[in-house]
Amino acid sequence: MNATTDIRRVHVRAPGKINVFFEVGEVQDDGYHDVASAYQAVSAVEDVWATPADDMSIAITGTVDISGVPSDDRNLAIRAARLLAHETGFRGGVHLDIRKGVPVAGGMGGGSADAAAALVACDALWGTGLGSHDLQVLGARLGADVPFALMGGTAIGMGRGDELSPALARGRFDWVIVTSDRGLSTPEVYAALDAHRRRHAVDIAPPAHRPVVDTDVLHALRAGDAGMLAACARNDLQPATLALRPDLVAVLDEGERAGALTGLVSGSGPSLAFLASDAESAIELQVLLSAAGHTALHVHGPVAGARIID
Ligand code: ATP
Repeated sequence: MNATTDIRRVHVRAPGKINVFFEVGEVQDDGYHDVASAYQAVSAVEDVWATPADDMSIAITGTVDISGVPSDDRNLAIRAARLLAHETGFRGGVHLDIRKGVPVAGGMGGGSADAAAALVACDALWGTGLGSHDLQVLGARLGADVPFALMGGTAIGMGRGDELSPALARGRFDWVIVTSDRGLSTPEVYAALDAHRRRHAVDIAPPAHRPVVDTDVLHALRAGDAGMLAACARNDLQPATLALRPDLVAVLDEGERAGALTGLVSGSGPSLAFLASDAESAIELQVLLSAAGHTALHVHGPVAGARIID
């Protein structure tokens, strides 16, 4: 029997992420940087419904501003479906309905989550039956954050961020995300980081030759201790993001004054992630930041990677 005639619709949910630690090494000859990242999948999620179709198409809705999301072949979900079809020799198509809940271009990997969800959904719909390892390999070809959106939970990413190993994490961490109405381009942030490092070469430590995740971060995650994590959370992209968006410095201060254990730029930003000591404190923080005019979401992690919902 043909899987496409059996299954009429597959619903997959994939998570956005926060980098609770992000060390960026020297720029390589090809312009890329090696990184060491501690990822946590959070409850801001993308939902993707895949239905059989003759060609590839997409429709996008969302609880976040979706105006910057391409709905043509540049969309990462469509690229994921095309890649899976190409690699498996599948000749049909798919229609993807995407409901976005991860802020767009905010450094939280929403596009990568869509790609991960599309891979899992099309694999099930088309009956192409790739295992999780093969999906991870395809995912890495679409973007450095796609393998983590497939894996979920808490993980360490090396290389470009896509050489993953799961990390032990106990309990739950509560975060408040403050989104921006203007996104930032990741390549632009890395270029700003390189410029910042060149300019300040004499007064800042040189970038790590081989980036590593601080062992304190691993201990804090394993202990499920938000206070301990707040003391060692770090993002090397933060000075570059703040140079491009100096207005965010005041927002970081505001969140910390309103009770956050710490605040940091999420990935390349401009979303900011504030760590709270528990769910109740996160709700209070969200209320205070919203009252001050910010768009603030309360999320928690870790949550599962891309998975079929029904
Ligand atoms: P990255 O760090 O990969 O640049 P991000 O996490 O900051 O990403 P995303 O929401 O993934 O932000 O979007 C980055 C850009 O990717 C968007 O500005 C958009 O042009 C493009 N894009 C392609 N496909 C998607 C998608 N399915 N959802 C969101 N953006 C997409």
